[in-house]
Amino acid sequence: MTEALEKEGRRPRLLLHSCCAPCSSYVLEYLTRYFQVTVYYYNPNIFPPEEYEARAGEQRRLIEDMALPGHVGFEAGEYRPEDFYGAAKGRETEAEGGERCFACYELRLSRTAQKAAEEGYDYFTTTLSVSPLKNAEKLNEIGCRLSGVWGVPYLLSDFKKKNGYKRSVELSGEYGLYRQNYCGCVYSREEASRRERKAEKGKDLA
Ligand code: SF4
Repeated sequence: MTEALEKEGRRPRLLLHSCCAPCSSYVLEYLTRYFQVTVYYYNPNIFPPEEYEARAGEQRRLIEDMALPGHVGFEAGEYRPEDFYGAAKGRETEAEGGERCFACYELRLSRTAQKAAEEGYDYFTTTLSVSPLKNAEKLNEIGCRLSGVWGVPYLLSDFKKKNGYKRSVELSGEYGLYRQNYCGCVYSREEASRRERKAEKGKDLA
């Protein structure tokens, strides 16, 4: 398909779901070589609202600051935390990386696929797989299933590979990006606080 579009004289249009600026940095550097990208910041999972706004602001700033080939669009989805809590219901106590996260992937990818179909994009995908804590196999499985539902091809990915995660850390430093210490939801924030308290205790005992 990509070749056919190139023959038509245009780059394929890709709707890129993004969770935050740091994760999107390497993905944008890589994908804008091949696609006309629009970033879709759709993350009703993020808690609290101030954090949601801070990440959205950093995302916009990064797109403006990065020297990328071609124009990169930005759109924010609706911020309705109740949609996330509905998806996470009954899975609140799952550890990060488990069923709660799979439901969270599904929610965000589902809305992205729907938007890609409504607006005639050639592909959709997500930045999520750049994180070593995210399950690329599961993301690809969900993306392919949604592709069947909405009729838009899902760009299979595992962006952490080929040093993708390492490059995202370098770019975050280069652009002075705010890097949060938790994934996004209230449960991951509590988990991060517990980890920090444990590490502090360990230091005291040492
Ligand atoms: S830990 Fe991250 S991926 Fe998992 S449910 Fe929370 S925000 Fe979503």
